[in-house]
Amino acid sequence: MPTSVPKETGLGVCKQCQTNDAVENVRSRPMCRDCFCKYIATKAVKRMEKFRTRFSTAGQQRSLLLPLSIGVSSLVLLHCLDEQLKRQIENTGRTGFALQILHVDMTAVVPEGPSATQLDVVKERYPTHTYTSIPISSVMEVEDVQDLLKQYGIDTPAPLGDGIETTNLQCLQTLLQAIPTATARADVLSILLHKLIVDFAKADTCEAIVWGDSTTRLAEKTLAETAKGRGFALAWLVSDGPSPYGIDFYYPMRDLLKKEINAYATYTNPPLTPLIAPEPPLETVVSAKHSTIDGLMRNYFDAVEKNYPSIVANVVRTTAKLQAPGVGAGDASCSLCGLPLLLTPRTEQGLVAEGKAPPPLCYGCLRSVPMFSP
Ligand SMILES: [Zn+2]
Repeated sequence: MPTSVPKETGLGVCKQCQTNDAVENVRSRPMCRDCFCKYIATKAVKRMEKFRTRFSTAGQQRSLLLPLSIGVSSLVLLHCLDEQLKRQIENTGRTGFALQILHVDMTAVVPEGPSATQLDVVKERYPTHTYTSIPISSVMEVEDVQDLLKQYGIDTPAPLGDGIETTNLQCLQTLLQAIPTATARADVLSILLHKLIVDFAKADTCEAIVWGDSTTRLAEKTLAETAKGRGFALAWLVSDGPSPYGIDFYYPMRDLLKKEINAYATYTNPPLTPLIAPEPPLETVVSAKHSTIDGLMRNYFDAVEKNYPSIVANVVRTTAKLQAPGVGAGDASCSLCGLPLLLTPRTEQGLVAEGKAPPPLCYGCLRSVPMFSP
């Protein structure tokens, strides 16, 4: 039997170009490799309309931060934007924006996470951008986090010649160990990661952050945040443009399913697949104690997008219709996650002791860090 017979996909002729064999089905529309790749790149770049060369002033580079976990979505976003910048140079001789790539090294808390060597491989493939790697523990140096720890008397060990990195790490571990449940720990860790990225982008005077979240990831976040008590923040969670953190957010991959992004990574030339850091395996629920709401939602949407992709897209489209409340400069925000406290009941029964000011935490964070309650 010959072994080199091309894989028969059974999808027939490409509905776009009518010539090639289709390899992927996009919302019931068979597409060949070339048309599929064009479709993905167009979807991502369409969301970058504001950053075309015609909106940039010569001599004033607009800087965008791309947080790169080296997972498939952030890597595909980097690939698409890199291609967009190359096209801009070809067409106009200049670019509409510059990319700052930030990788947060999570190995201190997620030992199986991507290493510095993996980031080096990405740098070699996309050498024209600026790269920075910082450990997650350095979030302990962010002013808000220091204030919060001081305010709630969480001991931060004094630097004892061990170097700031060791101190930061000890401090992060102390904080995470004080959190009672797996869901709350995962929640706080993702908030700290988010904080570190936003803090870096602002310190580096980036105009906006471009996130790699797929529509599947946004749907996961929508339901997970609702379950964790931050339903009040959904409108901000999925909208392009101003965020409550004082910097604009964009989600160029928001119209693409995770499975489409995965497929795209295998079709680029050369494929992106060898660069992608493996994702943590889906949670197998052995006990409720160790499973997290985030993990549960990931499992759920992973299964749903296989057969019912429109449900996934619908969750995000529906949420995107919510109107984000206006936030003024003087409005209070949650000390941990940074979301505005406009709609949040801060005085849960029994939480506010006589004469004490209520803790400036949102409802979701009050749930995650009960030790911060007075
Ligand atoms: Zn909060």
